[in-house]
Amino acid sequence: MPDLRFDGKVAVVTGAGHGLGRSHALLLAERGAKVVVNDLGGALDGSGASTGPAGEVADLIGKNGGEAVASADNVATPEGAQAVVQAAIDAFGRVDIVVNNAGILRDRSLGKMTVEEFDAVLAVHVRGSFLVTRAAFPHMKEQAYGRVVNTSSPAGLFGNFGQVNYSTAKMGLVGMTKSVAIEGARANIKANAIAPIAWTRMTESLFPAEFEDKLTPGRISPLVAFLAHESCEASGEVFSVGGGRVARVFVAEGPGWRTDDLTIEAIHDNWDAIMVEEPHLPTKLGEQATASMTAML
Ligand code: NAD
Repeated sequence: MPDLRFDGKVAVVTGAGHGLGRSHALLLAERGAKVVVNDLGGALDGSGASTGPAGEVADLIGKNGGEAVASADNVATPEGAQAVVQAAIDAFGRVDIVVNNAGILRDRSLGKMTVEEFDAVLAVHVRGSFLVTRAAFPHMKEQAYGRVVNTSSPAGLFGNFGQVNYSTAKMGLVGMTKSVAIEGARANIKANAIAPIAWTRMTESLFPAEFEDKLTPGRISPLVAFLAHESCEASGEVFSVGGGRVARVFVAEGPGWRTDDLTIEAIHDNWDAIMVEEPHLPTKLGEQATASMTAML
């Protein structure tokens, strides 16, 4: 098939100074998108700031023949998120694609995790994604077109030791993605999420060295670009992706068991029926509620 391209489209990629975001920005620009390269330029824990990383990636896109502007704004603040989207409007007149990718880590076991460590991680991942999407949404609605790609994580979908803050944030993004998909549907705004595994500064101490050239960011970005493309019909979906493998992730519900006389003991006695692994896949809240209601009839 011919190359899927983004000519005439404008993309905002947050956290694009390093790692995955950098790779997403380079790929979208290579395929014709005009890109706002946003990055606060801080350390892995979110401390510090620098205009360097965003500027370097925007310069590289320019050298490669593409169009990009840099933004070193902090997506976790309303003013910063607004400024990122405004940079797209000022430089390119529109915003079609938002890739919410910026992220930090403050890993600590639950008993030792401070409120500040919990809040700081939610602020960047959850509040940042909400704020940038909210700032872009009116523009997308007006042009009746938009693509939002959020960045979840296997740690959020399945849990991980030492990451109560991070996994809470990353599962929060699944709910955000599904609700934005519902709110955006009438205006042809699609929202999806990825749960990547890749070798970046965030993970380089976790994986054996032999995976460095296999778990590359370049093996994540094609999925992000596909979900950001006008030909993508999916919305409200989550995909795990890493090392070239892409898989749909489901939020599923079992067939359920019910009684008119729900007691603690009845739950105890019918636990096996409740735990049956026969997944049904509600695509929105209404479908799940309907299943509960029809079970009563
Ligand atoms: P990374 O540290 O290389 O990239 C994250 C970028 O976000 C950094 O450049 C950082 O400066 C930027 N950033 C942080 N706070 C910001 C803020 N407030 N405003 C703007 N920019 C900010 O790490 P990465 O692995 O490329 O991570 C990218 C995303 O992918 C993150 O959301 C991360 O949680 C997620 N993720 C990564 C992996 C993996 O295996 N690498 C796995 C699951 C999820």
